[in-house]
Amino acid sequence: MDSQRPTILVVDDQQINVRLLAETVNDLGKVIFAMDGATAIKMATEQQPDLILLDVKMPGIDGYAVCAQLKDRDDTRNIPIVFVSALGEEGEEEGLNAGAIDYIHKPFRPAIVKARVRNQLDLKRYRDALEDIAFHDGLTGLANRRAFDLHYSDEVRRAHRNKKPLTVVLCDIDHFKSYNDTYGHGKGDACLRIVGEALAAPRNRPGDMLARYGGEEFVGVFPECNITGAELICETLRMSVEQLEIPHKASSASDVVTISVGSVTAIPESPDIMKDLLEMADKQLYLSKQNGRNRVSCAEA
Ligand code: GH3
Ligand code: MG
Ligand code: MG
Repeated sequence: MDSQRPTILVVDDQQINVRLLAETVNDLGKVIFAMDGATAIKMATEQQPDLILLDVKMPGIDGYAVCAQLKDRDDTRNIPIVFVSALGEEGEEEGLNAGAIDYIHKPFRPAIVKARVRNQLDLKRYRDALEDIAFHDGLTGLANRRAFDLHYSDEVRRAHRNKKPLTVVLCDIDHFKSYNDTYGHGKGDACLRIVGEALAAPRNRPGDMLARYGGEEFVGVFPECNITGAELICETLRMSVEQLEIPHKASSASDVVTISVGSVTAIPESPDIMKDLLEMADKQLYLSKQNGRNRVSCAEA
């Protein structure tokens, strides 16, 4: 959520209600509105509001159905929905059971709506911040291992289903212990940050991910990437770090900071092959280390 100005989607088929609600919550965020269910779903998906104020009784798709559809989609599931309805207690029960976070009775008191919306927006901001911490590495800002594992598991399943090759890449900074010993841990942290940034520089495709796997190791997954693509990606990663020209006088591989890279490319024969692929990539990484570091080794499985 934009910490300065959250977006609130107001959904009601009566123009007067839209106007009243918009006026009520106007100074809590940017208000957008829809006057029917289908438009509401479209706007929620495309604009990812931070909160939805949702009428129940509307022609066409009613509020409960809108709520159910939004709760059923990965990309809208976490948007809090507050029903605003004249249906009374029964409606309240159904609304909360449909996944709404709160229910406001019509006719509503603007001060109450405002207070409740403010509370929900505070909670949303807090949840977003927690999620950010849970899925990102604090030092480099890259995706962390937890985020990688979730994404990786999805991509392996997808590649298995579509019978498409997938490439897993491991990168490890060469002689990083001696970097720390020579330049100090603070410089070591700064180096990790810069290397991470170079490695994560714009990935080409939506399913691509590069994450900090731990310590001075980075891991990447590249869907629909064959061995030729893998060789290109690995070499690009290797070069992007070498070209940073960060001095490393204690390294026997080069006089600048370098990485060794290992990859494996496979059409997963089963979704359970995740761990095996990582182990194979690790074997290739080990080969790169053995053969003198600052190099790439790519295998097909
Ligand atoms: P190799 O070329 O074989 O990979 O040798 P290496 O020294 O890079 O590998 P080793 O696994 O022996 O040491 C990794 C070092 O990475 C040790 C540890 O102090 C450092 N390291 C891991 N995480 C961090 C971190 O967050 N910050 C800093 N500054 N150093 C870290
Ligand atoms: Mg290591
Ligand atoms: Mg290392």
